Amino acid sequence: MDVLICIKQFFNSGAIVQQSSTYRMRLKKNVRITDPACVDIVMKMTLEMPDREPVKPFVPGQFIRMGIPDVKNPAPAYFAVASSPHESRHYEIVIKQGTSIGDHLALLAPGAEVEVEGPMGKGFNLAPFKGCDVILMGVGTGISPLRSVWDSIIHHRSDFGKVTIYAGFLTPLHNLLTDEMDALSRHNIEVNISVATGSDDWNGAIGYVQDMLLADHPSGENSVACLAGMSAMVDACSETLQNLGFNDSRILLNF
Ligand SMILES: Cc1cc2nc3c(=O)[nH]c(=O)nc-3n(C[C@H](O)[C@H](O)[C@H](O)COP(=O)(O)OP(=O)(O)OC[C@H]3O[C@@H](n4cnc5c(N)ncnc54)[C@H](O)[C@@H]3O)c2cc1C
Repeated sequence: MDVLICIKQFFNSGAIVQQSSTYRMRLKKNVRITDPACVDIVMKMTLEMPDREPVKPFVPGQFIRMGIPDVKNPAPAYFAVASSPHESRHYEIVIKQGTSIGDHLALLAPGAEVEVEGPMGKGFNLAPFKGCDVILMGVGTGISPLRSVWDSIIHHRSDFGKVTIYAGFLTPLHNLLTDEMDALSRHNIEVNISVATGSDDWNGAIGYVQDMLLADHPSGENSVACLAGMSAMVDACSETLQNLGFNDSRILLNF
């Protein structure tokens, strides 16, 4: 339901910045990234052009519309590009099973073709925010569009001040991209991970990303925040940021 609301809002906002027709991409890899004991299956798909041409360039945070060639049901859906905008050989897409198209895509084997439109959406444009501190807040698969943002920041690290990621997952077994996030300290990027429900061996934070943000109490004066997740999370984080003094122009969404 959240996703439907988001997509409706996306179309109502007229936010498509790049109109494009559909084209085919080929699945190179399809790898599970949630713990085998996790009830939710989340896959990382690697997609390349059939003739190994470079993929279409994109702005961090943009997404593609992806479906099964010549199949209307399940209908195509929107998936954020999780890979680096500096990587021209392929896109990486993080997909959670649980929707009909997600279930279908998660089972595809390498070599399968998918139908793609885009990249589209406004993405997260950090160009006007050089010199600012950057806050990235993502929950669940919403962390994937932020991955392309932090990779882009790493390529231009001196353009930004303090960079902090707040990532929220359902449980410690929903550890999407957490290995990669652990390694971000070498780029002077601080990572805070919280889970909604802990476990015996979880020593980290329990709660929502906005709770961790509030505890840190960053100033909104010279900072910008990028938000990615379901609408309830985006609304709650926006309100928290506004209460911390963030002007609306410093709270960015990717669609
Ligand atoms: C344009 C667009 C692109 C999309 N791209 C993708 C994609 O690439 N891949 C994909 O699988 N889906 C995608 N979606 C769907 C959407 O991103 C996910 O449904 C959403 O991010 C939730 O992720 P999840 O189901 O993994 O969350 P869950 O695993 O169900 O939850 C993750 C976290 O959300 C927290 N949470 C719940 N409620 C709140 C709240 N009120 N405040 C704060 N935190 C809260 C939970 O505690 C938990 O920590 C896309 C949707 C749109 C509109």
